[in-house]
Amino acid sequence: MSSPPAPSAAKTLFEKIIAREIPATIVHEDDLCIGIRDINPTAPVHILLIPKKPMPRLCDAVPEDQALLGHLMLKATAIAEAEGYGDAYRLVVNNGAAAGQSVFHLHLHIIAGRPLKWPPG
Ligand code: 5GP
Repeated sequence: MSSPPAPSAAKTLFEKIIAREIPATIVHEDDLCIGIRDINPTAPVHILLIPKKPMPRLCDAVPEDQALLGHLMLKATAIAEAEGYGDAYRLVVNNGAAAGQSVFHLHLHIIAGRPLKWPPG
């Protein structure tokens, strides 16, 4: 059983982007989430879809988050389609530092625009 990161009163990087305190290229925004281009893209399309509710990791989601998580999946698909890659895209959630997570505010990576090998590294 993993324990969540220590709670912090400080805003996450993504909360600051949502609040327009840090600039980002925004490709989508609605009441529940924001989509921004990754600052260090790994593919021609690399968008981060971020819930406005700042849960640290996917494993911190609770049953009340079910609709929000579904919204993110459907919105990610719509964004991939809008970017021209509705037929071939990858959604990634890194959960925990050992899985590659570096920003502890849940986000989906939407990656497309080049051949994507499996398994990922
Ligand atoms: P993680 O490693 O947590 O799964 O993904 C965090 C992502 O956030 C990385 O792909 C990284 O490039 C991206 N990132 C980090 N800082 C910034 C930033 O200030 N702006 C944007 N747009 N992306 C960022």
